[in-house]
Amino acid sequence: MTLLYKSTRDSKNVVSASQAILQGLAVDGGLYVPTEIPKAKLDFSKLAQQSYQEIAVQIMQLFLPDFTQEELQECVNKAYDQKFDDKEITPLVKKKKQYYLELFHGPTLAFKDLALSILPHLMKKAAQKNTMDKEIVILTATSGDTGKSAMEGFADVKDTQIIVFYPENGVSPIQKRQMITQKGENTFVAAVKGNFDDAQTKVKQLFNDENLRKKMAENKKIFSSANSINIGRLVPQIVYYVYAYSRLVKMGEIKNGEKINVSVPTGNFGNILAGFYAKKIGVPIQRLICASNQNNVLTDFFQTGNYDRNRPFYVTSSPSMDILISSNLERLLFYLTKENSQQTKKRMDELTQKGEYTITSEMKEGLSGFFADFASENETEKTIHTVYEQANYVIDPHTAVASCVAKKYQDKKGSSLPTVVLSTASPYKFPQAVLQAITKETQSSEEYKMINRLYELAKKPIPASIQELKKAEIKHRDKISVDQMTNYVEQVLNLK
Ligand SMILES: *Cc1c(COP(=O)(O)O)cnc(C)c1O
Repeated sequence: MTLLYKSTRDSKNVVSASQAILQGLAVDGGLYVPTEIPKAKLDFSKLAQQSYQEIAVQIMQLFLPDFTQEELQECVNKAYDQKFDDKEITPLVKKKKQYYLELFHGPTLAFKDLALSILPHLMKKAAQKNTMDKEIVILTATSGDTGKSAMEGFADVKDTQIIVFYPENGVSPIQKRQMITQKGENTFVAAVKGNFDDAQTKVKQLFNDENLRKKMAENKKIFSSANSINIGRLVPQIVYYVYAYSRLVKMGEIKNGEKINVSVPTGNFGNILAGFYAKKIGVPIQRLICASNQNNVLTDFFQTGNYDRNRPFYVTSSPSMDILISSNLERLLFYLTKENSQQTKKRMDELTQKGEYTITSEMKEGLSGFFADFASENETEKTIHTVYEQANYVIDPHTAVASCVAKKYQDKKGSSLPTVVLSTASPYKFPQAVLQAITKETQSSEEYKMINRLYELAKKPIPASIQELKKAEIKHRDKISVDQMTNYVEQVLNLK
């Protein structure tokens, strides 16, 4: 049987992997999941000898069977090249018994680059396979990192356009600067008055807006998504879990088969869901640690079985995790219901209507492979400080959240398994929060002064993209309300 993809809200809605990548979101509003978990034979002593690129082709082949190995090889070669400033692509470093998988060596300094540098290539191949003659329009809401990373990937890619919405007051100054200076004739960016959830909810509505879809079709255009609701984002993210384990084996830190924990700073639940699939195909992970910031809706869900977004929304030092509606949790929910699309749809409708839902105690048992907790702003700051003091290693606030919660898990459960913290952003992306935590001094708001100071402390080269940003010309100034998003899309796409 070939692996296909079905919607979490309608099991009869089945498409091929390439079609799922093209569509992004299923028309019934659900998310695509594989019809089966592929059978993998992961030989880690062999994988330990292979490069990131070699591992990527094998893992992606498992989940994308309608792509040939040559096609995947070509996509991988185009994606994971000198754009990354480390030959390892995602180096695993050890600092004082803690492992950090550095996922920020790509062009926009966040882990999103691992998926978004390859997604445009996968999409182009998918369009060819399905002899699609329409222009692909990427519609994306961002909590700060996806937007830039996606635009970097899609800028000036033929037959594509990309529209990004970011929360006006919800991203860091560097993140904002990265977005408003984006080059490329086919890129559009607008600040939205509201938070990430407002923007993401509206984007999902736009995908399923009948009228808009009709107009798009008449203009030979089709929407797709660069958010982690697209399996073309998720699949490349499975790769680095396999890679991390293979490096632990290679470094002699663990014996092949020994269990590890992985701590994941979580927002939309995309990164950790990739870890869930990695575990399913055989990466020996004991616990996936779901680390949240003060927006701890997931912590409460894992502890009580009740998901409730009716709560205050906090703007924190880890803005890419300031999310109260974690889209990818729908996929986990689907597995918790034993792949029951009606049960899944029912709860997602409740979430839309009442802002909450509860799972049964039987479903809750399915969460035993996870541990969830959160780090307050204070704890995050302390963690950055302590890691710097003890390990002479500078981490960003998102990574600090994961590091702090990993420690909470170790303390609470007395677990001494090797733990990999996913390091999702470069500290240079959040100089103010990082410097403040390390020096305990209030910082001036001059970004580049802070970046230089951080360089003195971190002794790690300032990434070229940060240097270039200083002189970059501002190209996007649009600011709109959530209600204007539909109009904005029609206008920039020239829909008639
Ligand atoms: C997007 C992001 C996260 C959260 O990842 P999800 O896949 O949304 O859970 C964490 N850290 C950084 C730096 C991010 O950009």
